[in-house]
Amino acid sequence: MTEPNGERTLAYLSTIPVSRVKGLTGKRATALAAAGIESVSDLLFHVPRRYIDRSTTAPMEDAPLGEEVTVVGTVQKISTRRVRRNLAIINATIFDGETYLFATWFNQTFRERQLPEGTEVALSGKIERKQGRLQMKSPEADVLDRPGESLITGRVVPVHPGVKGVSPGFLRRGIHNAVTRSLPVGDPVPGEMRERLKLMDRSAALEAVHFPEAMDDVGPARDRLAFDELFRLEVALALQKRRQIDDAIGIAHVRETGGLVSQLVSGLPFPLTAAQERVIGEVQDDMVRPHPMHRLLLGDVGSGKTVVAVAAVLTAADGGYQGAVMAPTEVLAVQHFLSIGALLAGAGMAPPIEAKGMGSLFSQTEHERPVRLALLTGSNAEVNYREAITRSELVEEIADGSVDIVVGTHALIQEGLDFKRLGVAVVDEQHRFGVHQRVELRAKGAEAEPDLMIMTATPIPRTLSMTLYGDLDVSSIARDEMPPGRPEVETVALTKTPAAERLWLDRITTEVAAGHQAFVVCPLVEDSPKIEAASATAEHARLVALLPDMEIGLLHGQMVPADKASVMAAFRDQELDVLVATTVIEVGIDIPHSTVMVIEDADRFGLSQLHQLRGRLSRGIGPNYCFLVADPTTTESEDRLAAMVASDDGFVLAEEDLRIRGQGTVFGARQAGVADLRIADILRDTQLLIDARREAFALVADDPDLIDHPEVADEVRALLGDAVAWLFVS
Ligand code: ADP
Ligand code: MG
Repeated sequence: MTEPNGERTLAYLSTIPVSRVKGLTGKRATALAAAGIESVSDLLFHVPRRYIDRSTTAPMEDAPLGEEVTVVGTVQKISTRRVRRNLAIINATIFDGETYLFATWFNQTFRERQLPEGTEVALSGKIERKQGRLQMKSPEADVLDRPGESLITGRVVPVHPGVKGVSPGFLRRGIHNAVTRSLPVGDPVPGEMRERLKLMDRSAALEAVHFPEAMDDVGPARDRLAFDELFRLEVALALQKRRQIDDAIGIAHVRETGGLVSQLVSGLPFPLTAAQERVIGEVQDDMVRPHPMHRLLLGDVGSGKTVVAVAAVLTAADGGYQGAVMAPTEVLAVQHFLSIGALLAGAGMAPPIEAKGMGSLFSQTEHERPVRLALLTGSNAEVNYREAITRSELVEEIADGSVDIVVGTHALIQEGLDFKRLGVAVVDEQHRFGVHQRVELRAKGAEAEPDLMIMTATPIPRTLSMTLYGDLDVSSIARDEMPPGRPEVETVALTKTPAAERLWLDRITTEVAAGHQAFVVCPLVEDSPKIEAASATAEHARLVALLPDMEIGLLHGQMVPADKASVMAAFRDQELDVLVATTVIEVGIDIPHSTVMVIEDADRFGLSQLHQLRGRLSRGIGPNYCFLVADPTTTESEDRLAAMVASDDGFVLAEEDLRIRGQGTVFGARQAGVADLRIADILRDTQLLIDARREAFALVADDPDLIDHPEVADEVRALLGDAVAWLFVS
């Protein structure tokens, strides 16, 4: 396993098939490949999931009773007894040379195959003493190897994650062979950085993570390998940012003193919060640079992102550029159109949308010309400067530059809409937009790439934004920086009982009597909008019967857009008291008079979805009430509901969500290749991640093509694969 010139690198080891490792040829190599372990470097990254310290192992006789312990012995006897049709009892006798221990499992019939007599096994669980005998009920069992093998005797024994088709003993010996033959390997991390960050030598780390001499060696070794993994990822992200943003030609917008943005700000009915001022500053700093902005704005529901979006488009408008604001749904696009229209009108920059016939009159008296705002969606074409406009007229006026700001849905980029001079695009609720759409939009800028700002109200833990969205710059509005005056939400988890239902129905009655409004959110039906709509329709009928004095509306995804819009308008205008809805209301909708939300079968929703739903409340008059109705069946769903009751801070909930779901699921959704971390855990390794990011970005800033760091380039390219290949084409 030596390169022709005698240098061994991880990049090189990633080209050597695992079948070259002694003991892992043939069928075992095939089994490893099926588990994603194809090369020697893959094998080296297959690190133990735990260790059994046999360097100091006490005999079973001395193990404390009633505590979690791991003991090791040889299987003397194992048998399965079928007691009833659905109950099998498996008994095993384990002997450690001095003492016998009796292990019992129920229905785990594979144990007899897993632990044939003579197997050396580590059992983990609690020991009890019954009638003088040591017993363990349903212990975890890790097969070690043939008795007496040196790798499992009198030392710290690594337990590698199992691979189907390769016995644990073979796997351990194979990895041992690979480690022995591969080391030492080159270390691409510069010595100076290694010292500064107190990182262990890499070859020593590979050895110690798999076959530590003492348990204390494991932590630093693992950290070193986790750092490398994060460092490679961050180098790739830094290169990506460099290629996509820093090297791309953007528009150098100008920051006009006394321009449209200052007009907007002085015309607002409230002072900007410090966070809004800061973020608008960050956005404008980006916009005046000659490179395209590529910024993510994280701000919880109600944090005041709309004003920031308007400031961005007005910055472009000041220099004669157009702005696009895109929302994930039609309903939201309409809402943005209305609220941006209201902000412009309030600041005296455009006529109110209701008075749009007056546009020309307005423009002559107060301004050269009002800021022209348009709404363009699949079913809507509307502007603030003229009473009526057809779709094709509007499309033309966007193309000839008469329109300053266009609000819409995905349709804005999907329908080949041409802008005269698109200067900035603001995308609201990015998680509904694919990466491709992001790219398409950027291609809309005619002369240069438009600036791009993505806003999301689903706060992303910092660790995730540094990895998943690591090529973006991030602005965020923290919880304690939100606009003042948000009422509290009292969140209660209820089981599905008649008494509980009485409780929320009473609350709805009280609130409606006080002139407030209520949402009833119907169960999420994954993959079947039809069934979901049917259940919402049924619930609507039921509530109409239960609450005969109320006006109750229905909103679901199967309705045509025009009907959805009119139901929303009726609810917003307080013609309806209660809205029975599916998750179409999830994102962004503002209903200032709503004070109650009932979420049925709340256990079916994800945490961020629940938080988004609840965020529909707490904008108006409060206090607000949120009822989560569910009989949760898993600990995960219990945890989610408990988290919702405990906090309504989106950032806290986002961290909690990551903790509950684990990074695997989160990464699964996006950029699987790049962010496929095997050793690092961004929850546990946050500091390593921060260090790796800082170092990687500094390295790429100094050496954008990695000319002076070829080993880093080789390793990133070799280990991150095709996903990053384009970064290296120069
Ligand atoms: P987001 O889109 O981030 O959820 P919005 O932009 O819709 O939040 O703002 C939420 C509410 O707060 C709106 O009613 C808005 O008018 C109000 N708001 C925004 N900024 C401020 C501020 N600086 N002071 C007081 N209220 C504000
Ligand atoms: Mg919003």
